[in-house]
Amino acid sequence: PAKSVYAGELPKGLQNISNIVAVSSCKGGVGKSTVAVNLAFTLADMGARVGIFDADVYGPSLPTMVSPENHLLQMNPETKSVLPVEYLGVKLVSFGFAGQGRAIMRGPMVSGVINQLLTTSEWGDLDYLVIDMPPGTGDIQLTLCQVAPLTAAIIVTTPQKLAFIDVAKGVRMFSQLKVPSIAVIENMSYFDIDGCRHYPFGKGSGAQVVQQFGIPHLFDLPIQPSLSASGDTGVPEVVADPKGEVAKTFQNLGVCV
Ligand code: ADP
Repeated sequence: PAKSVYAGELPKGLQNISNIVAVSSCKGGVGKSTVAVNLAFTLADMGARVGIFDADVYGPSLPTMVSPENHLLQMNPETKSVLPVEYLGVKLVSFGFAGQGRAIMRGPMVSGVINQLLTTSEWGDLDYLVIDMPPGTGDIQLTLCQVAPLTAAIIVTTPQKLAFIDVAKGVRMFSQLKVPSIAVIENMSYFDIDGCRHYPFGKGSGAQVVQQFGIPHLFDLPIQPSLSASGDTGVPEVVADPKGEVAKTFQNLGVCV
């Protein structure tokens, strides 16, 4: 993908990362973290060196979705940088691994804390850093985009929430920052019973969004109990069922990033 025209001085912690991909949504609960985690483990399975940064301070979901044995971030005493937690070779950083309760902070403080954790983590050499963005398009998201030179954005939505305006807002934010939105993921789009496909929330306007904004890719993900269960077991769906339909969709997405 095309590089963003990020002009700031690159923070040291991010210097050896080839691609930083933001997974974003306008609303919470649409499956953004599910997509971020499964994309990351798919890329790792394809042979890439991968990290996940869970940028949600208030409701970090990475520790529930991925459960490594050692689940506390450590500090490197010499460099004072943060050593990511690891699971199947994927480096993981989340406020949920910091061993503290949910923080009460004002917006500007949150931005500072997020940016610090992102840039002082020892990511090492990575082919991809997947950022699970906080939902929305406010100040926190903006400053995060300014600190990290994003290569691409992936927008996650559900059909009923694929209010054109919502998705457009996300695409517009990234486009203003010269970050290409490369794919829209319509999550919880359908389910199959006895060979019959149902669209409980309607067909969504994904195709229209993709067409209007010139986004190259649109992917559908089904409502699937195992996707929800994998959130509880701590083993991502693409790891638990690497040959399943969902894994195939993520492989196709992986090729796009
Ligand atoms: P977000 O990051 O947008 O807040 P999550 O990825 O945390 O959303 O997903 C919200 C909840 O919905 C989680 O419990 C997750 O396991 C579940 N979920 C997400 N996508 C699906 C799906 N396609 N089928 C079933 N459950 C899903």
